[in-house]
Amino acid sequence: MEQKNINEYEKEYSIKNHPDIKGIQIIEGKNNFPISWLNKQGYCEYQIYLESIKGIETAATPEMTHGSDIHNQLENIFKQDATPTSFEDAVEASKENALMSRECFVIAPELGIRGYIDEIWMKPDEIVIIDDKPGRTPYQSTMNQVRAYCLAYKSMTNDERLIKAALRERGTSNLFWIEVFTPEVENQIKFTIDRMQGLLDGTKPFIPTKNPNKCRSCRYKRYCEHYKRD
Ligand code: SF4
Repeated sequence: MEQKNINEYEKEYSIKNHPDIKGIQIIEGKNNFPISWLNKQGYCEYQIYLESIKGIETAATPEMTHGSDIHNQLENIFKQDATPTSFEDAVEASKENALMSRECFVIAPELGIRGYIDEIWMKPDEIVIIDDKPGRTPYQSTMNQVRAYCLAYKSMTNDERLIKAALRERGTSNLFWIEVFTPEVENQIKFTIDRMQGLLDGTKPFIPTKNPNKCRSCRYKRYCEHYKRD
């Protein structure tokens, strides 16, 4: 597949930082959150409260640092061989010839989501949207993250090609989970995004996980009133 570095977009939006919530932008008048937050939301919503509303900062874990090192290496290798293009041209050209890109930005202001797709394959008959994760377990949170990328891509393009969401074991070519982005999946992820919007506008409470194993490995546990020490 031809490698394309997507670095231009036709549309421009009015963007402001949210005055109180770190990481939230107000885009076209609506709270817009990074799609990667769906991963945190599936782990424990209270982490988002502590990090983004209370502003608590913690050091990155060794796993996080290792993951971002691999990510950056792959990104640098890709950029050496890829030719630059706009998002719109890439979508159009891929209807004839397959191409792939990395770190592809997607945004859906009407849904209030934005993010970077780790890797996207645009083929004449299908679009495959891939998120790289450590390990080989498809968690609800990671599936939701990649489903939201599919939703944002669809909302930007109205592409009628088949869209697939996939999770890949980081640093390998092993796609350990793949799913067709059906209307049912689309409705389900819209429901989850709506819940996130409710947390951010204060109409829904941030619910802490009840799973003590998650709390034990949580980097916010020192600051969390819901953490129960053994
Ligand atoms: S300690 Fe537990 S409840 Fe508190 S933020 Fe972490 S995972 Fe959530």
